[in-house]
Amino acid sequence: MVSAGTTLSLDISTLYLVAALVALLLGAMLLFFWRQQKIAALGWWGSAYLLGSASIALWTLGGGALGFELSLAVNAVGFIACGLVWDAARVFHGRAPGIGGLVAGAALWVAASFLFAPLTAEMQMTLGAGIVAAYAALTAAELARERRKAMRARWPALIVPLLHGAVLMLPIILSDIMHTQGVATNMRGLWIAVFAAELVLYAVGTVFIIFILVSERVVAAHKTAASMDPLTGLLNRRGFSEATARMMEREAGAGRPITVMIFDIDHFKSVNDRFGHATGDEVLKLFSETVVDNLRATDLIGRVGGEEFAALLPCGMDEAVTAAERVREAFQDSGVAIDDEPLATTVSIGLAGGSADTELEVLMASADTALYQAKRGGRNQVRAIVEQPLSLGQARCGVPGAAVQPAVDLVNMAQANA
Ligand code: GH3
Ligand code: MG
Ligand code: MG
Repeated sequence: MVSAGTTLSLDISTLYLVAALVALLLGAMLLFFWRQQKIAALGWWGSAYLLGSASIALWTLGGGALGFELSLAVNAVGFIACGLVWDAARVFHGRAPGIGGLVAGAALWVAASFLFAPLTAEMQMTLGAGIVAAYAALTAAELARERRKAMRARWPALIVPLLHGAVLMLPIILSDIMHTQGVATNMRGLWIAVFAAELVLYAVGTVFIIFILVSERVVAAHKTAASMDPLTGLLNRRGFSEATARMMEREAGAGRPITVMIFDIDHFKSVNDRFGHATGDEVLKLFSETVVDNLRATDLIGRVGGEEFAALLPCGMDEAVTAAERVREAFQDSGVAIDDEPLATTVSIGLAGGSADTELEVLMASADTALYQAKRGGRNQVRAIVEQPLSLGQARCGVPGAAVQPAVDLVNMAQANA
C-alpha cells in the first residue's frame, strides 16, 4: 500500500504483520457470519479484510524485494480491498455495488505508476494515502446516507472511517511543515508506526460497528415479523396499535387532526362457504392491496381481525372520507370472477375523527359504531363520526353537505351515547 521503503525497522514490520493477522482473522469471522446469516454485505466486508490482509502481509514481507510489477499488484489489491469496504456499506443499505468505484483507486495507482515512473516515496505516500482516505470518506458518506433513525450505531459508523481518513491525510497536510523543519524522515517513520497501530484499531473498530449494525437490523427484522400479518403483509393488530401510538403522539404534538377507519368486508362468510377458505384468503389479499393502492404511503394500515382492517390517516375528516370512498369503489369494481361467475366484493367502512390527543380506543369504538351504521344502512358504504365538535377547520369537513356520496353522518359522541 503506502510506501514503507526499506527503512522499516523490525518493530514496525511486526506491527504491520500483526495488522495483517488481525485483518485475516476478522475477515474469516465475517465470512463465517456471512455464510451463517446470509447477509450479503458481510461477504463483501469479509473479502475486503482478506484482500487487505494479503496486501499488507505481502508488502511487509516482500518490502523492497518486490519488483515493479509485483509491488504494483500488491498495491492494487490493497486499494481494491478499500473499494470492497465501500461497496459493502452500499450493499448493506440495499444499494447496488459500484464496480467502477471498486477498481478506480487501483486503476489510478497503476496509471500514475506508469505515467510518472518512477514514483518518488513522497508521491507514493501522497497518492496512496489520498486513495485510501477517499475510500474512507466514500464509506462514511454511504453510512451517512442511511436514514433509518433507529440505527443507533450510525454515528460511530460515520466517525471511525472519517478519523481513519484523517490519520492518513495528516502527513500530507503536514508535509510542508515537516520539510521546512528538516525532520521529514523521522516524522515519516513515526507516522508509519502510528498508521500501523491505527490500522489495527480501525480494522477491529469497523468490525465492531458492523456487528452492531447487523444485530440492530436482525432485531428490527424480528420486531417487524412480530408485528406483521403474514397473509397480507400489513401490520397485525399489535403492530398497528404500536405504530398508531407513535403517529398519534407525533400528530398531537403538531396539533393536527387524525382519522381512524375500520373496514369490514361484506358477507365474507358466504365467500368462504361457497368457494372455500383459500378463495377467501385471496379476497383478503386483494382487499389489502386495494387499501394500500388507494391510501397514501404515510397512512398506517393494519389487519386487525379476520376480515377486518383498520387505517389511521394523519388528516381531517373530509380528506379521509374521500379516501375511504376511493377504497370502497375500487374494491366494488375489482371485478373478481370465479368460474366466470362474478363475485360481489364490497366493503363497509366506519370512520371516526378527532384531534390526535384523543384516545385511540375511543376513536376505534366510534369508528366501530359508524361501521355498524354502515352495515345496518345496507353495506357497501362509508359512515363517519366526528369525535368532538372541533373548533378548527376540521369541523367544516364533517358537514354532511360537504361529504361525498354516500352521505356521511355527523354525529356528536355526546348525542350518540345519549
Ligand atoms: P358482514 O357483511 O356482516 O360483515 O358479514 P360477514 O359474513 O363478513 O361477517 P362475519 O363477521 O360473520 O364473517 C367473517 C368471516 O370471516 C368468518 C370467518 O370464517 C372469516 N375469516 C376470518 N378470518 C379469515 C381468514 O384468515 N381467511 C378466511 N378465508 N376467512 C376468514
Ligand atoms: Mg366481521
Ligand atoms: Mg364482514
